[in-house]
Amino acid sequence: MTTFKDLGLNENIIKALTDLGYENPTEIQEKAIPQVLASKADLKAFAQTGTGKTAAFGLPILEQIDINNRDTQAIILSPTRELALQIAKNIEEFSKYMKGFSVAAVYGGASIEEQIRKLKKGVHVIVGTPGRTVDLINRKQLKLENVNWLILDEADEMLNMGFKDELDKILAVTPKEKQTLLFSATFPREVESIAKNYMHKPVEISAGEKNKGSDQVSHQYYVVSERNRYNALKRIADVNPDIYSIIFCRTRRETQEVADKLIKDGYNADALHGDLSQAQRDSVMEKFRNKTLQILVATDVAARGLDVNDLTHVINHKLPDQIESYTHRSGRTGRAGKVGISIAIVTAREKGKLRPIERLIGKQFVSTPVPTGKEICQNQLLKLIDKVHDIKVNDIEINDFLPSIYEKLEGLDREELIKRFVSLEFNTFLTYYQNAPDLNDSDQMRGSDRNSSRDSDTRGKRRDDENMSRFFINIGRKDNLNPARLIGLINDQKIAKNIEIGQIEILDTFSFFELDKNYQDETIASFKENGADFEGRNVNVEITEKKRTGRSGGRRDGGSSSERGGDRAKSGDRKRSRDRKPEGDFSGFGRKRPDTKSAFGTTDKSSKRRKR
Ligand code: AMP
Repeated sequence: MTTFKDLGLNENIIKALTDLGYENPTEIQEKAIPQVLASKADLKAFAQTGTGKTAAFGLPILEQIDINNRDTQAIILSPTRELALQIAKNIEEFSKYMKGFSVAAVYGGASIEEQIRKLKKGVHVIVGTPGRTVDLINRKQLKLENVNWLILDEADEMLNMGFKDELDKILAVTPKEKQTLLFSATFPREVESIAKNYMHKPVEISAGEKNKGSDQVSHQYYVVSERNRYNALKRIADVNPDIYSIIFCRTRRETQEVADKLIKDGYNADALHGDLSQAQRDSVMEKFRNKTLQILVATDVAARGLDVNDLTHVINHKLPDQIESYTHRSGRTGRAGKVGISIAIVTAREKGKLRPIERLIGKQFVSTPVPTGKEICQNQLLKLIDKVHDIKVNDIEINDFLPSIYEKLEGLDREELIKRFVSLEFNTFLTYYQNAPDLNDSDQMRGSDRNSSRDSDTRGKRRDDENMSRFFINIGRKDNLNPARLIGLINDQKIAKNIEIGQIEILDTFSFFELDKNYQDETIASFKENGADFEGRNVNVEITEKKRTGRSGGRRDGGSSSERGGDRAKSGDRKRSRDRKPEGDFSGFGRKRPDTKSAFGTTDKSSKRRKR
């Protein structure tokens, strides 16, 4: 096996690496280090996050730095403040035994004067975010005319974040003869064009295939309807009691909303996005790094630079708009030799987005059913039993109480006692999940051949039909009704938030519409209670027979309001709709914590998991 010594690094660096526990070089290090040591040629490196790329570019530069020269000799550009700080910290660690060497990070959101003071002392290696670097160049506080190395780390992210102009400016003030090292996990057109414009005949290396995800990550997808997306997320958290995860959202608003709901529902979660102040972001990241926080809900940009190696899951609450971002997201798990799972929660309609991602990462998503209540109970129960098994008993403290406890429990045998103690912790959970609905989209359950069902509108419609009730409404075209106005009228009734509306059929004097069948009663009641009218006409809404279609074989889903049997047949659905509500409110074990404490007389480690 290759050693760092074989790669040509000196004793001081190797000693520092040994202190860090680095025994052997990673693949990207094995390829990049000798290349940069031996050649002045530019380098284009395809490397995922978490593959050891900081050392891959940092070590050969440290090896060649002239410590006696106080000029800035290398500038490393990184997309975020967090990543810049992380890189600077790593370089400090690598250079621990290099007397007189200095590195500094420059980034926005912190005092520029402080950074200028540092620069004035002379810094060999600067790690900067593009914006602050340009600012310092403009103020003539950062001189890059003597740099030998320019490193673009996570070039794709820098371009994604709109730093093209800043990169142009920085590249323009660096000398022509420098060596440029470009590291990127993905190589979209924009990155290729940077390479083309600013690099001279670059040597290409790669750890793993271009744009390909880590082999350590398995990719799964869950198909749910839009309204079940959040509940599916909670089940993923519930079925994995030891989850340590980032949930990715596309927008700051979505991020905050998901985090707020999780917090309200008692999960140990928090949000990380650009609307937070730097101090808030730092605090959240610190809590997540030291595992006080179990679930981080984040935007793609905000999560960059968060150096966490042992995530169990990455969850795509919604898939990213740019498919390359999926590689970055999933690359947050399966790092440093560990295995990880990347989960995409998609609606049947969004399944079409998986195929291009599969092509990009060179791996297949595995269709996975949303965990059932039973699976969740089993996992949580086993976790509880493990905790009971491993708990340290404080004999001295508990001894005084034992006689009266034994006396109270006299007559209960071992099995009975176990059952009762377990139930104490578990009853709420069991009761809750006993009636929990199946969250899998029916399309998913119908067959395993997802390729044939993917993107198929007709299937989607058919699936939706089964979840819809059909309503008659006594107004039509002659009343100036059109689909948009009907949707407006339905929304005005405020039946439920984001209620799904299905097919609409406008006829001359009356019309039909379909709505989520779980809200069948609420729909009728809302129209009635609101005394709804349309252009002065009293509106009357009734449940009606489902439209017969050739495909569904004319099956009756709804039953007309006059069909009493049909109505009765739907009472189960009504019950489900009531049961669904707690899924949003459920606080899981978090709520039971105080009982657990008194039951087992212990401070429970997993109480960290959920806030009270
Ligand atoms: P990076 O891709 O540079 O962010 O590195 C990912 C993680 O792997 C960091 O926590 C590094 O400390 C760790 N790492 C990098 N190279 C090695 C190595 N050769 N041996 C062990 N750990 C490493």
